Amino acid sequence: MPRQTEIINLTSANPGSTRHLRVHRYGSPGNGPKAYLHSSLHADEWPGLLVLHHLTRMLDDADAEGRISGEIVLLPYANPLGLGQRINNKLIGRYHLDGGGNFNRNWPDLTDAATKAVDGKLGDDSTANIKLIREALIAAVGDLSKDGELEELRATLLGLSVDADIVLDLHCDQIATLHVYANRAQQDEAMILTRDLGSPVLLLEDAPGGGPFDEANHGPWVKLQKQFDLDEAVAKQCFAVTVELRGETDITDQLAEQDAEALFRYLMRKGVVTGEPGPLPEALCEATPLDGVDVPIAPASGILAWHFGPGDRVREGEHLADLVDIEADEPDAARTPLYARTDGFMFARKSAVFARAGDQICKIAGAETLEYRKEGALLSN
Ligand SMILES: [Zn+2]
Repeated sequence: MPRQTEIINLTSANPGSTRHLRVHRYGSPGNGPKAYLHSSLHADEWPGLLVLHHLTRMLDDADAEGRISGEIVLLPYANPLGLGQRINNKLIGRYHLDGGGNFNRNWPDLTDAATKAVDGKLGDDSTANIKLIREALIAAVGDLSKDGELEELRATLLGLSVDADIVLDLHCDQIATLHVYANRAQQDEAMILTRDLGSPVLLLEDAPGGGPFDEANHGPWVKLQKQFDLDEAVAKQCFAVTVELRGETDITDQLAEQDAEALFRYLMRKGVVTGEPGPLPEALCEATPLDGVDVPIAPASGILAWHFGPGDRVREGEHLADLVDIEADEPDAARTPLYARTDGFMFARKSAVFARAGDQICKIAGAETLEYRKEGALLSN
């Protein structure tokens, strides 16, 4: 069946304007594994938009050859609300300007609703349990509030993704290498994707905190598996990750095509598309803990004069940058050195060189858990 493109109209909060989501659908529900992909939930993160443009072409070709063996739901953009936020000739993403906070935080946790629905009905048959939990999650999404444009957007996106086997949420950082965020229960699968993407970083957490979209999808499965002591397969049933496609200006057809090819290979590997994906590329990293990511903070405001950038390996105590105080009367006294608190790989850095006190200025993936990193509060605001 050729690709179907559906337009989902969102209720307009503003007289005289409308918004919608565009949904490309390949394959048939129930035929095989379901993959859900969307890009730019934070609105102003562009690389994924071009990656999905290339992937759509590849999937169209595969579809014409009858090679879609599962179901694919692909949204070329996930956040029409954010795409409409402009101030001073600049699109302002990440936060909902009407008070809804970070677009990728505080997603609904469907665990309690699913728990109530399945309690007393689970048995020894893992396949039956998975079916039961999936139905409970679909029902729970159906019960979510759609009052307000942000709630409606969230309930709609989650309604499209919640029954998927694979959920790929495509983002980017400011200046960054590729990196992948995943739950520890899904480490093996996350490493396969990381290798297909050629990512030098895979970050694992047990509970990131903050309620990002990927956790809204995999969280209930991981928690229900533990809560009811179910087969491990349950925790892996919905593989949902955040893929950070480098930095916000790392956008070329060449990079986007390379990433789309990697995602296409991964979809073949998972049996969503038929074909030979070839051998799994060598890993470029070992997985490291999200609570081992050093996130240096600017102690005061000033200009950052960097000595390192994303892609660099650093040692604990290494002099990362100077923070230059623009109010200092004596230039010799203006510089505050900032140091790394772990041995690791710098994978992201703020694009703004003017830091304000309290700003998180870069991210370094280290192998050891850091005392100051707190479970449940591991994501930036
Ligand atoms: Zn993002």
